[in-house]
Amino acid sequence: MKLHEYQAKEIFAREGIPVPMGRIARNPREAFEISREIGSEVVLKAQVLVGGRGKAGGILFSSLEEVEEKSRKIFSTEIKGERPELILVEERLNSVKEFYLGITFDRSRGRPVVMTSSEGGVEIEEVARRSPEKITWVEVDPLKGIYPYMIRKLSRPFPKEVRKEAHEIIAKLYEIFVKYDAELAEINPLIYDGKKLVAADAVLNINDDSLFRQNFKREEEGIEGIASREGFSYVTLDGEIAIIGNGAGLTMATLDAVEMEGGKAANFLDIGGGVPPEGMKKALEIVYMNEKAKLVLVNVFGGINRCDEIAQGIRMFFEERGGKLDKPLVVRLTGTNEEEGRRILEEIGIEVYKDLREAVKSAVRRVKNDTSL
Ligand code: GDP
Ligand code: MN
Repeated sequence: MKLHEYQAKEIFAREGIPVPMGRIARNPREAFEISREIGSEVVLKAQVLVGGRGKAGGILFSSLEEVEEKSRKIFSTEIKGERPELILVEERLNSVKEFYLGITFDRSRGRPVVMTSSEGGVEIEEVARRSPEKITWVEVDPLKGIYPYMIRKLSRPFPKEVRKEAHEIIAKLYEIFVKYDAELAEINPLIYDGKKLVAADAVLNINDDSLFRQNFKREEEGIEGIASREGFSYVTLDGEIAIIGNGAGLTMATLDAVEMEGGKAANFLDIGGGVPPEGMKKALEIVYMNEKAKLVLVNVFGGINRCDEIAQGIRMFFEERGGKLDKPLVVRLTGTNEEEGRRILEEIGIEVYKDLREAVKSAVRRVKNDTSL
């Protein structure tokens, strides 16, 4: 998973790497407000997950007067096929010299490699091709970690006055690389402004196989991101009835049934097969996050999934919320271990049906008569 520059910079800042002053803007007006707060020339940076934004028109320097116009331009520019939804507005640094610092895996060695170069602001691949002697690199034994002598070697391209800072930044970036299970951590350019070093750009790519243990802030990644991390197919829709089904076909059919009864689906969520109780609980947590949804409809046809396990998951969720659900839950449960499943749900007072049409009718009726729910 690639993080946006602003997300990577938040992490860098938290871990003690100097980053420029700045904030994220959702529209030209916000970009203007932020620039006014910064109070000097700014850099407007399109937040898209591709490199080389500078050349593609995704990065513009601006005075306060031109901020709205220039950010409008960036918002309407497609950068290598991606249209930015956010612009990072930052103080413009006075760049005396640009350096490179990056950590990645050398697949043939099976180890992280840390690189620095006096040729910053250019793609490192290009430097490697053109003037490989300008890249300083060390290979790190992941079990031993990075040693001070390695960092000293890596600090060599930096000016004497900031070598101590370079030392700290390299050590911190290595810590981040390990802590966040990164595949790539890169600062290009690391700008020397005559006094200090500042990370003008930030790249942090997380290994997908580690996402389960990396807790990124939920607001940032959105419900879709969380759902995909849990292995569910999830799509937000604009109706009021949240839907959880098992199997894409059954879930689609549930959506259709809701629409046929005059309701509108708030999402599509397919939990798939063989879901343990914890998985069912997770699915409920996800659909309950959607503020637009007013009611949740679960439709499970137990085959590989067992109705009793699904019901246990619902009970776990119910208990986690202290037995109070802020949105009513309607369940249709049939198939393998159906009786046990229904018993569990009836015990905690959850509305459970065997027939889909009846469940859907009840759900739509309750949403329409809103007041009681
Ligand atoms: P990329 O093109 O997607 O890698 O985006 P960068 O964030 O690296 O920005 C592109 C280039 O813009 C950098 O290599 C710098 O030369 C320049 N740049 C970015 N931020 C600043 C800044 O604050 N001050 C100055 N002088 N140049 C900057
Ligand atoms: Mn860059």
